[in-house]
Amino acid sequence: MAKSKAPKNCMNCPHHEVVRDPDPDDWFCDDDKAIVCTLTPNPKKKPRSRFLSERSPHRVVMCAIRPYNLRKEATSPAWCPIKQQEEAQAVKD
Ligand code: SF4
Repeated sequence: MAKSKAPKNCMNCPHHEVVRDPDPDDWFCDDDKAIVCTLTPNPKKKPRSRFLSERSPHRVVMCAIRPYNLRKEATSPAWCPIKQQEEAQAVKD
């Protein structure tokens, strides 16, 4: 089996985006961030949500992250479209 080219960490992927995700109930988490995948639409999109990450048009990889923990919490998810594409290709081969 060929070695996977899917990034293990979304921070190493050109398709990630870091967005502000302040906790509306916690002033000291005002600088929280979320990581979203720009290749995947957000299945839980809630246009009226109080949380920025839920209003995002892109699927959230991880929300409510302290800024200094971004890389630590950005492990690419099982639903990563690059991983899914590789798995689908492997089944065909
Ligand atoms: S989920 Fe996959 S495609 Fe999306 S940002 Fe992360 S590594 Fe990139």
